Order: sequence, then structure tokens, then C-alpha cells
Amino acid sequence: MGQSAPISIEVQPRYRAVQGDRWPVQVSPRAGELLSSWIHRVAFAHGLPPRRFADALNFGTGMWSPRLDVDFPNWALRLFAHYSGVAPDTLVRMTVQDKFWKRLLLPLRHDVSQEKSTWLQFCPKCLAVGKTPYFRRRWRFAIHVHCRQHGCRLLDRCPRCQRGIASFDQTELKPQHCCVACGLDLRRARTQPLDAETAWVAQCIEDIGRLEFAKGSNQSLASRLLELPGMADAGKTRVLTNFSVEHRIGFYRLIASRMVDLLGSDPSPLVSFWRKRIIMEGGIDAIMQSLSDNLAFRGPRGSLYPPMRRPLMRKLPRKVVYSGEWHDLVRSYLELNARSRGSS
Ligand SMILES: [Zn+2]
Ligand SMILES: [Zn+2]
Repeated sequence: MGQSAPISIEVQPRYRAVQGDRWPVQVSPRAGELLSSWIHRVAFAHGLPPRRFADALNFGTGMWSPRLDVDFPNWALRLFAHYSGVAPDTLVRMTVQDKFWKRLLLPLRHDVSQEKSTWLQFCPKCLAVGKTPYFRRRWRFAIHVHCRQHGCRLLDRCPRCQRGIASFDQTELKPQHCCVACGLDLRRARTQPLDAETAWVAQCIEDIGRLEFAKGSNQSLASRLLELPGMADAGKTRVLTNFSVEHRIGFYRLIASRMVDLLGSDPSPLVSFWRKRIIMEGGIDAIMQSLSDNLAFRGPRGSLYPPMRRPLMRKLPRKVVYSGEWHDLVRSYLELNARSRGSS
């Protein structure tokens, strides 16, 4: 706790009549937002720096909000859901619960040397999109090193002062996209393109990770991904999550010619098939159309069916076909395969 006077967010009587005891400003989570990013925006919207918001709600010191991203106790979930009006399910989806992804989290640390990872990465161009800069959940994972949308490398520290993101420690009323140490607007940080071959490696690794998540956690793949530094450079004994984004990009470049050997195999022939296909075709996007066609557009004799008469539609949640959420599609594909194997 700091030396500042105790503060709280109180709802004035005129608001209480219309919205109970909810916080006066409603802050909606953005697509793919990390919980701590949303919490910092809630604090800012109510005129409180994150550090004072934590004091007001007794969330403790240090990296209080990043801790909630990975360990969101029920009492905290109830508190935020009650006062913000955001559904508990939505809040939980902004955290990291899955065992596979938890192993690939960048460790919670702030003061770091040049070689070590920080806890959070960012794409300046993504921060600059729209009126609400926010940090994405995927930027917490070590396997992500570039932004597919903008084709640039992620940054994991302020390019001016070399400090990591520390919005949780902000004591002044400034938005979270301003570096806490030097004040730089991180949306203006210069980006660097990632060369095509390394971008291909990064894309394959991300998609293989998502495939793994779609079919259910496979701890052996997580272990393999963590050991990539040693596969790239025999002298490296520390795991992937320990290295800065620059070093991880270097490892990706070194393993480019051995992707099939290092990541293509799995005890399940079906998973092995998809992993190799992802590697050979450079990511899941390129193969999605044919997968979608196989699932939803082809009948028993390979003929095309109008949308509402497709036989497989009865076995799939409709959103799988229409939403473009490929991990749902892959999960359904794997389930269908398992089912057809079970019934044969
Ligand atoms: Zn971006
Ligand atoms: Zn800075």
C-alpha cells in the first residue's frame, strides 16, 4: 500500500437509482483483450491510476493485475462481474486457464536484462487501431513473436527506455499505452518487418499450438516448444519463455529447415497429419477452405449441397460453419473423425 489516503469508487445516489451499485462507467471488453488490460481501462475510466485502483480494492502490491490474468480467484471474479456488469464467462475467457497455454506464458517479471523476456509483448500498430488501445491476450505467450495483421515483429519493451510494460504500477492518470517509465506513447513505437521465412516458422508454430488447444491439451508439444532454444542452439539450456522476443525470433530462424522433424510428429496419426500439413502449407489459413469444404459442402458422393440440406450440418453446431472460427472447425473435424472411427 502507498501512503495515499484510502479511496473507493462510490456510486452517487442519482446513479444508484438506475443501476444499483455498479460502477458508474461501463467499460466493455474488446475482442481478444487480456483481463489486466481491461482492468486498467476500468480504473482509468473512473479517474484512478491502476496502482491506486489496486489499493482501493486491496489487490496488493507488485504485479497485481497480471497475477489475476493467470490466477483469477472466485471472489475477484464475483467482484468484477458484480460491479462492472460484464458476464463472468466473458471475464474468465480473458484470463489464461488452459494447462497447455499456461506452460507457454511469459513469466511475470518486470525489471529484466536485454536477453530475458518481459511479461507482455505488443504490436504498436494494433494498439493504434481504433479509439481504444488495449493489450491482447495472445501477447502473453512466448510462441507469439510477430503480428500477422501488420507483418511486423512484436515488441516486448519500450524502445526508448528499454523497460517492460508496467501499467499495473502506474501512479499517474495516464492511459495504459503510455510507457510508465518514460511516457512514450507506445502506439508510435517504430516497428520492424519480420522476414518471410521466420514469419512462416512463427505462423506454423502458432497454428500447431492452436491445433493442440482445439484437440485438447498435449503436454508433450508444450515441452517440445519450450525446448526450442536448445534445438536451435545446443548451448542454450533455458526454456523458450525465458528469452526476449528478439532471441526467440533468432531461434525460429535457426530451426526453419527442420520444422517437420522437430514439430511434425505426434503419437496420433491424425494430429501428425495436420501438423505436417500446417508446416508444408505455411499455416492453417491456407488449408481452411478445403477443410471447410470437406466438412460442410460435400455430401456422401462428393456432390455439392445447398446450405440447409448438407448432411454434415446436422452433426455440427451451425456457428462452426459460418463463424470462420477455425479452431472450432478443427475441433469438430477431430470429433467427427473420432466418432466415425468409433462407429466403424
Ligand atoms: Zn498488429
Ligand atoms: Zn519507456
